[in-house]
Amino acid sequence: MDSDNEKPRKKKRRPHWIVRGLGPSFTACMGFVISVLYITFPCAWLATHVSVAYPVASAMLLTGTLVTFLVSSFMDPGILHQGPPWPGTAEVAYVIVNGQRYDMDWCSRCEIYLPPAAWHCRRCNACVDRFDHHCEWLNNCVGRRNYRVFLLFLLLLTSYLLLVLSSSLFYLFLTLLTLHQPFSLPHATTVVVMVTSLACVVLVLVILISNIKLISNGEPSSTIEPYFEPDDKNPFDQGCWKNWTHVLCSPTGPRYTTSLIQTGIWGL
Ligand SMILES: [Zn+2]
Ligand SMILES: [Zn+2]
Repeated sequence: MDSDNEKPRKKKRRPHWIVRGLGPSFTACMGFVISVLYITFPCAWLATHVSVAYPVASAMLLTGTLVTFLVSSFMDPGILHQGPPWPGTAEVAYVIVNGQRYDMDWCSRCEIYLPPAAWHCRRCNACVDRFDHHCEWLNNCVGRRNYRVFLLFLLLLTSYLLLVLSSSLFYLFLTLLTLHQPFSLPHATTVVVMVTSLACVVLVLVILISNIKLISNGEPSSTIEPYFEPDDKNPFDQGCWKNWTHVLCSPTGPRYTTSLIQTGIWGL
Protein backbone atom coordinates (compact mmCIF):
# COMPACT_ATOMS: atom_id res chain seq x y z
CA MET A 1 0.00 0.00 0.00
CA ASP A 2 1.34 3.44 -0.91
CA SER A 3 1.50 5.97 1.88
CA ASP A 4 0.71 8.80 -0.58
CA ASN A 5 -2.89 7.54 -0.66
CA GLU A 6 -3.15 7.81 3.12
CA LYS A 7 -4.60 11.03 4.46
CA PRO A 8 -2.50 12.53 7.23
CA ARG A 9 -4.09 11.92 10.61
CA LYS A 10 -3.62 13.55 13.92
CA LYS A 11 -1.57 11.12 16.02
CA LYS A 12 -3.31 10.10 19.22
CA ARG A 13 -1.31 10.35 22.38
CA ARG A 14 -0.55 7.40 24.60
CA PRO A 15 -2.51 7.44 27.88
CA HIS A 16 -0.79 9.32 30.70
CA TRP A 17 1.74 7.24 32.64
CA ILE A 18 -0.32 7.65 35.85
CA VAL A 19 -3.37 6.10 34.12
CA ARG A 20 -1.21 3.34 32.63
CA GLY A 21 0.26 2.70 36.07
CA LEU A 22 -3.09 1.94 37.76
CA GLY A 23 -3.13 -1.72 36.62
CA PRO A 24 0.41 -2.50 37.76
CA SER A 25 -0.23 -0.66 41.05
CA PHE A 26 -3.32 -2.77 41.77
CA THR A 27 -1.45 -6.01 40.96
CA ALA A 28 1.47 -4.94 43.15
CA CYS A 29 -0.92 -4.08 46.04
CA MET A 30 -2.55 -7.52 45.84
CA GLY A 31 0.86 -9.17 45.86
CA PHE A 32 1.89 -6.96 48.77
CA VAL A 33 -1.15 -7.98 50.91
CA ILE A 34 -0.60 -11.71 50.27
CA SER A 35 3.12 -11.34 50.99
CA VAL A 36 2.49 -9.48 54.27
CA LEU A 37 0.10 -12.22 55.43
CA TYR A 38 2.61 -14.90 54.44
CA ILE A 39 5.53 -13.19 56.21
CA THR A 40 3.49 -12.39 59.34
CA PHE A 41 2.21 -15.91 59.98
CA PRO A 42 3.77 -19.01 58.36
CA CYS A 43 7.13 -17.45 57.41
CA ALA A 44 7.68 -15.84 60.84
CA TRP A 45 6.83 -19.10 62.63
CA LEU A 46 9.17 -21.12 60.39
CA ALA A 47 11.97 -18.55 60.90
CA THR A 48 11.67 -18.94 64.70
CA HIS A 49 11.14 -22.69 64.93
CA VAL A 50 12.84 -24.15 61.81
CA SER A 51 15.30 -21.90 59.91
CA VAL A 52 15.95 -18.26 58.97
CA ALA A 53 16.48 -19.49 55.41
CA TYR A 54 12.72 -19.16 54.85
CA PRO A 55 12.49 -15.36 55.26
CA VAL A 56 15.87 -14.82 53.55
CA ALA A 57 14.92 -16.84 50.44
CA SER A 58 11.44 -15.28 50.41
CA ALA A 59 12.85 -11.74 50.61
CA MET A 60 15.33 -12.37 47.79
CA LEU A 61 12.74 -13.86 45.43
CA LEU A 62 10.15 -11.19 46.28
CA THR A 63 12.63 -8.36 45.67
CA GLY A 64 13.65 -9.86 42.32
CA THR A 65 10.00 -10.31 41.33
CA LEU A 66 9.12 -6.69 42.20
CA VAL A 67 12.13 -5.25 40.39
CA THR A 68 11.48 -7.21 37.16
CA PHE A 69 7.75 -6.40 37.42
CA LEU A 70 8.46 -2.66 37.57
CA VAL A 71 11.11 -2.78 34.84
CA SER A 72 8.91 -4.70 32.40
CA SER A 73 5.95 -2.42 33.23
CA PHE A 74 7.68 0.87 32.54
CA MET A 75 10.34 -0.18 30.01
CA ASP A 76 9.86 0.71 26.33
CA PRO A 77 8.72 -2.62 24.82
CA GLY A 78 10.10 -1.76 21.38
CA ILE A 79 7.91 1.05 20.10
CA LEU A 80 8.84 1.63 16.48
CA HIS A 81 7.96 5.27 16.17
CA GLN A 82 6.72 8.13 18.34
CA GLY A 83 6.43 11.84 17.79
CA PRO A 84 5.43 13.54 14.52
CA PRO A 85 4.07 11.32 11.69
CA TRP A 86 6.67 9.55 9.60
CA PRO A 87 7.83 12.08 6.94
CA GLY A 88 7.12 10.66 3.50
CA THR A 89 7.23 7.13 2.16
CA ALA A 90 9.63 4.42 3.24
CA GLU A 91 11.98 3.50 0.42
CA VAL A 92 11.06 -0.18 0.51
CA ALA A 93 7.85 -2.02 1.32
CA TYR A 94 9.46 -5.37 2.01
CA VAL A 95 12.33 -6.76 4.04
CA ILE A 96 14.49 -9.86 3.74
CA VAL A 97 14.74 -12.09 6.81
CA ASN A 98 17.22 -14.95 6.47
CA GLY A 99 16.74 -14.99 2.70
CA GLN A 100 12.95 -14.87 2.79
CA ARG A 101 10.96 -11.93 1.57
CA TYR A 102 8.39 -10.31 3.83
CA ASP A 103 5.94 -7.74 2.43
CA MET A 104 5.42 -5.12 5.11
CA ASP A 105 1.99 -3.83 6.11
CA TRP A 106 1.30 -0.14 6.46
CA CYS A 107 0.11 1.21 9.82
CA SER A 108 -2.09 4.20 9.05
CA ARG A 109 -2.08 5.35 12.68
CA CYS A 110 1.70 5.52 13.12
CA GLU A 111 2.26 6.02 9.38
CA ILE A 112 5.08 3.53 9.12
CA TYR A 113 5.70 0.17 7.46
CA LEU A 114 5.68 -2.71 9.92
CA PRO A 115 8.52 -5.24 10.01
CA PRO A 116 7.69 -8.93 10.64
CA ALA A 117 5.87 -9.64 13.90
CA ALA A 118 5.32 -5.94 14.64
CA TRP A 119 1.80 -4.93 15.57
CA HIS A 120 -0.17 -1.82 16.45
CA CYS A 121 -1.31 -2.07 20.07
CA ARG A 122 -4.56 -0.17 20.47
CA ARG A 123 -4.12 0.11 24.24
CA CYS A 124 -0.72 1.77 23.93
CA ASN A 125 -1.56 3.38 20.56
CA ALA A 126 1.84 2.47 19.16
CA CYS A 127 3.43 -0.09 16.87
CA VAL A 128 5.63 -2.47 18.83
CA ASP A 129 8.46 -4.51 17.30
CA ARG A 130 8.17 -8.30 17.82
CA PHE A 131 4.88 -7.70 19.61
CA ASP A 132 4.09 -10.64 21.87
CA HIS A 133 0.98 -9.36 23.63
CA HIS A 134 -0.37 -6.46 25.65
CA CYS A 135 -0.14 -7.60 29.27
CA GLU A 136 -3.01 -6.28 31.38
CA TRP A 137 -1.12 -7.02 34.61
CA LEU A 138 1.87 -4.98 33.53
CA ASN A 139 -0.34 -2.53 31.63
CA ASN A 140 2.35 -2.50 28.99
CA CYS A 141 3.15 -4.36 25.79
CA VAL A 142 5.61 -7.21 25.84
CA GLY A 143 7.85 -6.85 22.81
CA ARG A 144 11.42 -6.98 21.54
CA ARG A 145 13.00 -4.80 24.23
CA ASN A 146 11.32 -6.02 27.44
CA TYR A 147 10.66 -9.68 26.54
CA ARG A 148 13.59 -11.18 28.47
CA VAL A 149 12.82 -9.06 31.56
CA PHE A 150 9.24 -10.34 31.30
CA LEU A 151 10.57 -13.94 31.15
CA LEU A 152 12.73 -13.35 34.21
CA PHE A 153 9.71 -11.87 36.00
CA LEU A 154 7.67 -15.00 35.22
CA LEU A 155 10.48 -17.25 36.44
CA LEU A 156 11.01 -15.34 39.71
CA LEU A 157 7.26 -15.04 40.34
CA THR A 158 6.80 -18.80 39.81
CA SER A 159 9.69 -19.56 42.20
CA TYR A 160 8.34 -17.17 44.83
CA LEU A 161 4.81 -18.56 44.63
CA LEU A 162 6.09 -22.15 44.86
CA LEU A 163 8.10 -21.19 47.96
CA VAL A 164 5.05 -19.50 49.54
CA LEU A 165 2.93 -22.54 48.75
CA SER A 166 5.39 -25.14 50.06
CA SER A 167 6.29 -23.10 53.18
CA SER A 168 2.63 -22.57 54.06
CA LEU A 169 1.92 -26.26 53.60
CA PHE A 170 4.90 -27.19 55.77
CA TYR A 171 3.75 -24.74 58.47
CA LEU A 172 0.26 -26.27 58.55
CA PHE A 173 1.72 -29.77 58.62
CA LEU A 174 4.05 -29.00 61.54
CA THR A 175 1.62 -26.99 63.67
CA LEU A 176 -1.61 -28.95 63.10
CA LEU A 177 -0.47 -32.53 62.49
CA THR A 178 2.82 -32.72 64.41
CA LEU A 179 2.32 -30.27 67.31
CA HIS A 180 -1.48 -30.71 67.38
CA GLN A 181 -2.18 -26.99 67.83
CA PRO A 182 -5.85 -25.88 67.65
CA PHE A 183 -6.96 -24.35 64.32
CA SER A 184 -6.70 -20.56 64.81
CA LEU A 185 -6.43 -17.25 62.93
CA PRO A 186 -2.83 -17.83 61.70
CA HIS A 187 -3.90 -21.17 60.23
CA ALA A 188 -6.97 -19.70 58.52
CA THR A 189 -4.84 -16.88 57.09
CA THR A 190 -2.30 -19.41 55.86
CA VAL A 191 -5.05 -21.34 54.05
CA VAL A 192 -6.12 -18.10 52.28
CA VAL A 193 -2.50 -17.44 51.30
CA MET A 194 -2.16 -21.02 50.00
CA VAL A 195 -5.34 -20.94 47.90
CA THR A 196 -4.41 -17.57 46.38
CA SER A 197 -0.83 -18.57 45.61
CA LEU A 198 -1.96 -21.93 44.16
CA ALA A 199 -4.36 -20.19 41.75
CA CYS A 200 -1.65 -17.71 40.76
CA VAL A 201 1.10 -20.29 40.29
CA VAL A 202 -1.07 -22.43 37.96
CA LEU A 203 -1.81 -19.38 35.81
CA VAL A 204 1.79 -18.16 35.76
CA LEU A 205 3.13 -21.67 35.01
CA VAL A 206 0.83 -21.98 31.97
CA ILE A 207 2.13 -18.64 30.65
CA LEU A 208 5.76 -19.58 31.40
CA ILE A 209 5.51 -23.00 29.69
CA SER A 210 3.82 -21.51 26.60
CA ASN A 211 6.66 -18.96 26.34
CA ILE A 212 9.30 -21.70 26.69
CA LYS A 213 7.65 -23.62 23.81
CA LEU A 214 7.45 -20.43 21.75
CA ILE A 215 11.16 -19.65 22.15
CA SER A 216 12.21 -23.26 21.48
CA ASN A 217 10.24 -23.26 18.21
CA GLY A 218 11.69 -19.89 17.18
CA GLU A 219 8.30 -18.19 16.95
CA PRO A 220 8.78 -14.40 17.14
CA SER A 221 5.40 -13.79 18.79
CA SER A 222 2.58 -15.65 20.52
CA THR A 223 -0.09 -13.57 18.79
CA ILE A 224 1.33 -12.53 15.38
CA GLU A 225 2.08 -14.98 12.58
CA PRO A 226 4.12 -13.15 9.94
CA TYR A 227 3.55 -14.59 6.45
CA PHE A 228 6.62 -14.99 4.28
CA GLU A 229 6.83 -15.47 0.51
CA PRO A 230 7.18 -17.87 -1.19
CA ASP A 231 7.26 -21.02 0.95
CA ASP A 232 5.92 -19.74 4.27
CA LYS A 233 8.71 -21.34 6.32
CA ASN A 234 9.49 -19.70 9.62
CA PRO A 235 12.78 -17.86 8.97
CA PHE A 236 13.13 -16.98 12.67
CA ASP A 237 13.67 -20.64 13.63
CA GLN A 238 17.44 -21.29 13.82
CA GLY A 239 17.25 -24.39 15.98
CA CYS A 240 16.40 -24.64 19.66
CA TRP A 241 19.84 -23.67 21.06
CA LYS A 242 20.31 -20.64 18.77
CA ASN A 243 16.73 -19.52 19.39
CA TRP A 244 17.37 -19.43 23.14
CA THR A 245 20.78 -17.76 22.70
CA HIS A 246 19.17 -15.09 20.56
CA VAL A 247 16.38 -14.36 23.06
CA LEU A 248 18.67 -14.29 26.10
CA CYS A 249 21.89 -12.79 24.72
CA SER A 250 21.13 -10.54 21.72
CA PRO A 251 21.30 -6.74 22.21
CA THR A 252 18.09 -5.07 23.36
CA GLY A 253 18.25 -2.68 20.41
CA PRO A 254 17.74 1.08 20.23
CA ARG A 255 14.47 2.87 20.99
CA TYR A 256 12.23 3.99 18.11
CA THR A 257 13.84 1.90 15.38
CA THR A 258 11.86 3.21 12.40
CA SER A 259 15.01 4.22 10.54
CA LEU A 260 16.18 0.59 10.50
CA ILE A 261 13.17 -0.34 8.37
CA GLN A 262 14.44 1.82 5.52
CA THR A 263 17.54 -0.30 5.08
CA GLY A 264 15.37 -3.10 3.71
CA ILE A 265 17.19 -5.77 5.71
CA TRP A 266 15.57 -6.80 8.94
CA GLY A 267 17.84 -8.98 11.03
CA LEU A 268 16.86 -11.18 13.91
ZN1 LIG B 1 0.90 1.73 14.55
ZN1 LIG C 1 0.21 -2.27 24.52
